Amino acid sequence: MALRFYNTLTQEVETFAPLHGNVVRMYTCGPTVYNFVHIGNLRTFTFQDILRRWLRARGYELDHVMNITDVEDKIIRNAAAEHKSIAEYTAIYVQAFMDDIAALRLEQPERWVKATEHIDDMADAIEKLRERGYTYVSEGSVYYRIANFPGYGKLSHNDFSGIRAGARVDVDEYDKADARDFVLWKAQKDGEPAWLTPLGPGRPGWHIECSVMAMKYLGETLDIHTGGVDLTFPHHENEIAQSEALTGKPFVRYWLHAEHLFVDGQKMSKSLGNFYTLRDLLGMSYTPEVIRYQLAAVPYRRKLNFTFDGLKAAATSIDRLRNYKLRLETAKFADGTNEKLIERTHFATAAFNEALDNDLNTAEALAAVFEYVRDTNSAMDLGEFLAGNTPSAFEFLTHFDRVFEVLKPSARAAGLSDVDVEAKIAERSAAKKSRDFARADQVRKDLAEQGIILEDTKEGVRWKRS
Ligand code: AMP
Ligand code: ZN
Repeated sequence: MALRFYNTLTQEVETFAPLHGNVVRMYTCGPTVYNFVHIGNLRTFTFQDILRRWLRARGYELDHVMNITDVEDKIIRNAAAEHKSIAEYTAIYVQAFMDDIAALRLEQPERWVKATEHIDDMADAIEKLRERGYTYVSEGSVYYRIANFPGYGKLSHNDFSGIRAGARVDVDEYDKADARDFVLWKAQKDGEPAWLTPLGPGRPGWHIECSVMAMKYLGETLDIHTGGVDLTFPHHENEIAQSEALTGKPFVRYWLHAEHLFVDGQKMSKSLGNFYTLRDLLGMSYTPEVIRYQLAAVPYRRKLNFTFDGLKAAATSIDRLRNYKLRLETAKFADGTNEKLIERTHFATAAFNEALDNDLNTAEALAAVFEYVRDTNSAMDLGEFLAGNTPSAFEFLTHFDRVFEVLKPSARAAGLSDVDVEAKIAERSAAKKSRDFARADQVRKDLAEQGIILEDTKEGVRWKRS
């Protein structure tokens, strides 16, 4: 069956096709850089990575824009407390975010955009909204009059008909019960940084940046817009109100929202203090690929409960797959091809593809992989897996890893102790002695991947960390 996604806007699973040819134009709400992100945030970004990779596996090209919110209430408060400019304060967290996504092997979008680099574009958009009658001014700030946009509520499926017209809200984040006219441009307050635009000295509200930057780079109607479920209201509802008031066209065709990462039944969040950053977990010697696996293994629309047992289970799963790959690489299989196992591979590939086509059901896709590994391992034990079966088995494993990307050990995550390294070297020497050169080479390769370089000398093997 075709590729399909659950669309928050229609509340249905729909077949996906881009509007223009083969290119998917996609926008993702990126981080607010006021601190390190936690692994809850990273769950949402991992979902986007799986989405990117699967779209490409299905033959699409991507034009994907992600923003960095580098002006907002918390940033202004924290920067002022540290006597830093916004740029100085956010630079550290932008870099930390880039490091985190690189460690987790998350692909870069085609374009990064920063709010502070689009202030004039935002001021222009607000001016156009004013011309069209969607705004009003109060105490120097400009507000969006939601009563003038009849579709307000269509994304979050709330009936806002009873709202008090003219009630306003200045803060960037608020909940559903609080649907009110939201701020587009905030007049400068004492001591706050400000930009001078025709709207007067001030700064943009949070919501306008995404409408403006998404449409500037991707056009008036996007194929996909993603974010965490908490962004549905008010942020994405407000993006629709702004964008569609500006263009009169549908802003986004498919809205995809990732469920939250939970800890003990509560959403992982900065304010509850129940969070881990990626750095916290790496400091406890969990590898990035184990964390990536745990974040990706539960389908994105299901809540995911974070536990250390879950991380351990992820590590075991990855080990099983790596051992299987090693067996494929090093075992001696009898000549010939077992046609039944070729069919088994086709079946596994079809099941894997169908699972991901079905709104990215990663759990079922992984089940298809592990059933295949179990069956072919048994076939190897029984001598039924033949040399001619290895290419298709490798192909399937490579297909899997193009999406999940967990097979290669991270260099920094190796965490091999000196004793571990010595044990590996002993294993290699033993393999050489028994003339199993393939195994010996594999050990050298594995160590190299983990940053350990071997040197054979007359006195024996020397090693160093690269
Ligand atoms: P923020 O930097 O707060 O704007 O959040 C960045 C992204 O992380 C947004 O898409 C949020 O919806 C998402 N997010 C925040 N908390 C969680 C959580 N506990 N689990 C999953 N995603 C989250
Ligand atoms: Zn956004």
